[in-house]
Amino acid sequence: MQQLIDTIAAIATPNGSGGVAVIRISGADAIPCAEQFFQPVRGKRPSQMDGYTCSYGYLLNQKQEILDDVVLTVFRNPHSYTGEDVVEISCHGGRFLSQKILRTVLTYPDVRLAEAGEFTKRAFLNGKLSLTQAEAVADLISASGENAVRYARTLRDGATFRKISEFSQIILEILSDLAVWADYPDEDIPGVDATTLGAKMQQLLSDMRQLMSSYDYGKILREGLHTVIAGKPNVGKSTLFNVLSGCERSIVTDIAGTTRDVVEEQIRLGDVILRLSDTAGVHNTADKVEQIGVERSLSSLEQADLVLAVFDMSTPLSKEDKLLLERLPEDKTIIVYNKSDKSNPDFHQNVFFHFSPVETVEISARNQDNIPELQNAVERFAVRHATPAEDGMIANERQRICLENALCAVQEALDALSMGLAFDAVTVSLDAAADALLQLTGERVTDKVVDTVFARFCVGK
Ligand code: GDP
Repeated sequence: MQQLIDTIAAIATPNGSGGVAVIRISGADAIPCAEQFFQPVRGKRPSQMDGYTCSYGYLLNQKQEILDDVVLTVFRNPHSYTGEDVVEISCHGGRFLSQKILRTVLTYPDVRLAEAGEFTKRAFLNGKLSLTQAEAVADLISASGENAVRYARTLRDGATFRKISEFSQIILEILSDLAVWADYPDEDIPGVDATTLGAKMQQLLSDMRQLMSSYDYGKILREGLHTVIAGKPNVGKSTLFNVLSGCERSIVTDIAGTTRDVVEEQIRLGDVILRLSDTAGVHNTADKVEQIGVERSLSSLEQADLVLAVFDMSTPLSKEDKLLLERLPEDKTIIVYNKSDKSNPDFHQNVFFHFSPVETVEISARNQDNIPELQNAVERFAVRHATPAEDGMIANERQRICLENALCAVQEALDALSMGLAFDAVTVSLDAAADALLQLTGERVTDKVVDTVFARFCVGK
């Protein structure tokens, strides 16, 4: 296992006070450095400790004064997170003390402060993790919600890497079939003809598209479901927004058009995170500022993952309701009939018969009637997008672009095959597909891409 030239150190625990803090040191000088500053109370010195063992003792500064009593753990290369020698010092929590210990460690020659994500970057460079696994580590740190954590853990264990390796394997098989076919065109070799090869590529394309579809769910897990509450003024959007977010953020009034712009809130419904926007009502207005708000509301419908379209049951449907209905995206709209406590016989629901929303729910936002039913409808909607974690996931834009490039290249190969072009054309496209997949897993990737990936990590990870 490669030991990079310099040794790095950082505080691995979050900024702030806590029971314990951990200072992590990785590299060839990790153990000699610990040897200089650690004095065991009982037990072994760092240089004599086996990997995966701990020792209790004092951490001393350069003047041999005791800074703290600590537990020191040694991991020996290659059996550590980074693949290098690693020492972890667990000291008493608190930024002041841990900073002091870190500063002492950094006085050791050739030990320097780690950059953001550098421990994980070393794990990647030493072949301990693929790039997709490393990215999952970052997702795990920032994951909110049990589902997101479960996904990130499965991806860190290599689910995406395994899936991509399957694709690469199939491409290699097709390439070798093509080589056989090119070399012995007149032989009748079982399983090697244009139809069979075409079918293999079709299957590969469909499996790749399946993996690509996981991107949307990954985005929902990472960022939450972008949810817009839409409706004409005064239907109860702000009241619903406040009920769902559990606080008085939007201004609730009887004067139509008081929510002028988009208010956003992140809330949790069960295991679903919603990024909830309450928009300006959709209505005809001469007020320039309001007009901008209304236009924004309509365009936010297109960008939303989910629209809660609110209609007021206490009054007959108006032109504005119908205008909204025309602009609603059916496959991501839940129709919310509000003010069920004051429902009006002239509120004709038959206008909605031509519209096929995901679900419809009748509520009273003001009395908080039937809100759990609305919450269940939202949860059902989110679950419909779920893909099994074990099948891997396209977790970010970098991965998505690589897979998209691979998909295009396989499609080109298939087109070349069906147009009867020379084998070379098919082979060149398949080579390009294999290359895009290697970039996805990080097996063939530029330093710049690697640096960008790790820049989003925190220092200490
Ligand atoms: P928005 O303009 O769509 O955001 O509407 P608001 O949330 O400001 O509500 C407009 C008015 O409708 C307020 O007076 C609310 O108290 C009232 N309202 C909201 N929900 C209900 C409901 O379920 N039943 C009744 N009766 N009134 C409601």
